[in-house]
Amino acid sequence: MNIYDALQKRSIRDGILRSLGNLSGAVKKNIQNHPYLLNFAEDVRRAKLEVAENYDFWIDKAISVLESQGAWVYYANDAREARKIAGRIVGKEKVVVKAKSMVSEEIHLREYLEKLGNEVWETDLGELIVQLANDRPMHMIIPALHYSEDDVRLILRKIGIEGKNAKEMTENVRKFMREKFLKADVGMSGCNALSAKTGRIFLIENEGNIRLSTSLTKTYLVFTGIEKILPSDELCLKSVFVQAAFFGTFPPAYLNVNKKVKDQEMHVIFLDNGRKSTRFKEQLLCIRCGRCQLECPVFQLAGNIWGGDVYGGPMGIIWSAITEGITENCFLSTLCGKCREVCPMKIDMPRMIREMRGLILSRYRAEI
Ligand code: SF4
Repeated sequence: MNIYDALQKRSIRDGILRSLGNLSGAVKKNIQNHPYLLNFAEDVRRAKLEVAENYDFWIDKAISVLESQGAWVYYANDAREARKIAGRIVGKEKVVVKAKSMVSEEIHLREYLEKLGNEVWETDLGELIVQLANDRPMHMIIPALHYSEDDVRLILRKIGIEGKNAKEMTENVRKFMREKFLKADVGMSGCNALSAKTGRIFLIENEGNIRLSTSLTKTYLVFTGIEKILPSDELCLKSVFVQAAFFGTFPPAYLNVNKKVKDQEMHVIFLDNGRKSTRFKEQLLCIRCGRCQLECPVFQLAGNIWGGDVYGGPMGIIWSAITEGITENCFLSTLCGKCREVCPMKIDMPRMIREMRGLILSRYRAEI
């Protein structure tokens, strides 16, 4: 789908506005009821800036802690390397259960593992719908927001799941997934925050699928962008609380704190993919709460189709520049500043989008 098709799709606009209506009041309430979250956000911003000043130091520290606990650790310079490492770990003809992870979307992992002959299941309900529809997530946290109940009924029928209403369909998906969890060989997750002090992986969720994906299998594989490293467990906790609150669900239903455990093989892949060398360093402070997307007037019209292959919306314009390169999509921003206003990390996205426009224009001028 291109941006012109997206503009014609009412379901995208309706889904985004419905989610915005449900969540924006909740974000305000979270901050009113728990004002300390704003201090947490400041602490996390400061710590992320400190880590971004010296990634090599913090990556080495995180790697040596994880290795000392018996985890296998890898560093992937780009998406291709990350896919290859994952392919070697998983092998062929395995059943893989996967928690939702934007980093795995970034490296197109599921498609790669399927090509190797594996059976890969997204375990987050929205992400499973997107997988079965052969689509891409419309929002980082609410990937299937553009589908109606009737659409979902048709999509789930592909794997034999029926249901009179959303509740019944969800219940039947739960039963279906339970079987997959029990027979899976490999479990996978992303990472919301990683403590360089203890090697602990922090993950929040509302469905309980992450804890099943990461604890039942003999092999557990974690993907993390290097920007998820924080110096301590305390800062990781603060980061995931702020992420949940600014998305609109606080406290999150589940908080997972994962580490290498006996009888489970744990592999951790750190992904660079343009992060260390980018000129748009400020975007690496992002905690992926998805707030700026829902509030953005352009995203409200075109959804995730405005941006790059994986990341959409205002944050996506910059994340895509980091991982894929700059595109003319930056000229579609209104530069209204709403993204910066609502961002818990106070990331100045309009400034970076303006900088991108300047770079593209000077490239054109040089060609004339
Ligand atoms: S840029 Fe800010 S508002 Fe947008 S997803 Fe990242 S942290 Fe959230």
